[in-house]
Amino acid sequence: MFVPSEVKKAVLMLEEAGFEAYLVGGCVRDSLLGKAPTDYDVASSAFPEEMKAVFKNEHVIETGIKHGTLTVLINSVPIEITTFRIDKDYEDNRHPSEVLFTRSLKEDLARRDFTVNALAYNEKTGVIDVFGGKNDLEHGIIRCVGNPDERFSEDALRIMRALRFASVLGFEIEEATASSVHKNKNLLKNVSVERLFSELKKLLCGKDAAKIIKEHSEVIAVLIPELAVLNGFDQRHFRHDKDALCHTAAVIENVPPLPHLRLAALFHDIAKPLCQTVGDDGIAHYYGHAPLGAQMAGGILTRLKCDTETKNAVCELIKRHEDRFAAEPRAIKRLLGKIGKDAYDDLLTLMRADDLGKKPEYFPGEEFYENYLKIGADIIAKEECFSLRDLAVKGADLIEKGMEPGPEMGIVLDALLEEVIDEKLPNEKEALLEFALQNLF
Ligand code: ATP
Ligand code: MG
Repeated sequence: MFVPSEVKKAVLMLEEAGFEAYLVGGCVRDSLLGKAPTDYDVASSAFPEEMKAVFKNEHVIETGIKHGTLTVLINSVPIEITTFRIDKDYEDNRHPSEVLFTRSLKEDLARRDFTVNALAYNEKTGVIDVFGGKNDLEHGIIRCVGNPDERFSEDALRIMRALRFASVLGFEIEEATASSVHKNKNLLKNVSVERLFSELKKLLCGKDAAKIIKEHSEVIAVLIPELAVLNGFDQRHFRHDKDALCHTAAVIENVPPLPHLRLAALFHDIAKPLCQTVGDDGIAHYYGHAPLGAQMAGGILTRLKCDTETKNAVCELIKRHEDRFAAEPRAIKRLLGKIGKDAYDDLLTLMRADDLGKKPEYFPGEEFYENYLKIGADIIAKEECFSLRDLAVKGADLIEKGMEPGPEMGIVLDALLEEVIDEKLPNEKEALLEFALQNLF
């Protein structure tokens, strides 16, 4: 197993002082899977004060010293080291009421959530596998360490983590663990939304997100009850061959694994059940589901304490996901002026995924979206004007020509922008001012 020299040094320093030290958790799991770990966590038999003594000549940050965690910087690389611990008596499904330090690696591994996360590694001992994590890793299985009911009632976040790891690693949740996930799902209500949302985003960006959302929608619905009705919701439309949940899952699968796109996919049709009307021909329509969906998604994301930038991006995409506009520069410039290039590209990505989630015969072909994207890219590449920011005339120019500052100025600038977008006027100061003086003042 590859271990960076800084991590090796930290482990060695602890060992030379007479303590045990191992790599633990995600870094061992990911290394055995042949993936580069995101970070390296070290666990040690040294108690917090003893760790501080070992690293007294290094830069140490007391990250969570009460829980036995400190960060040591070796050659500016931060390494998190945690004393072996036992978490005792969870009374509220989320916080251990007591943290006991121990000298036993085995006891520390026993408090970890899943067998694949309960592996330890040290150059001298190799992989230490007390709970069969290596075998589960080989077979792609998420299994609780110990009794699932007990482990989920200690810390209900583990329920979401089970789904998250299954999605990210593409693993199956072992039967007893899966049935306990469902049995205990309501305990998720006791967990802070920040922790849940962080796991949800990782789940959505995993390779098996669509499968997990379909199989475990009732679990997700504990934190997002608005999703519950999508399961089994008959779309009653000739373009659709899936219920609203399976369609949603297909859309998730067909957008890249970025949180804002996956969240937009998850919520894009959330208002459909509320907006359904059925015509005499038996075909259902969903007028207004896009703007209402954006509003609902905004409410949900606020509740989940999503950052504002992501929330706004998600709502913008949902609001416009049903908009149809011509594949010609004028319409596209107008849209670019409203939402910008990144959101424009994301919108087409979402629209394509939405269409891929319908009956294949209604898919207009990849060229359809590529054409839109190309027109947008050309407008940007040629630095064409599509917003007031690019317009060759500014408010100050109008004032110089004798216009009173005020709301009319905005109207004049907007009118000039329309002329430029419609290619009736060049984006040149002289021509624009002349037109404004003759027609708009
Ligand atoms: P990644 O960092 O790639 O998301 P990870 O496995 O390192 O995955 P972390 O959340 O960083 O996940 O946690 C580090 C380790 O701590 C886990 O591998 C697991 O052993 C343990 N762990 C984390 N959260 C819990 C929890 N809620 N209950 C039990 N053990 C946990
Ligand atoms: Mg980690």
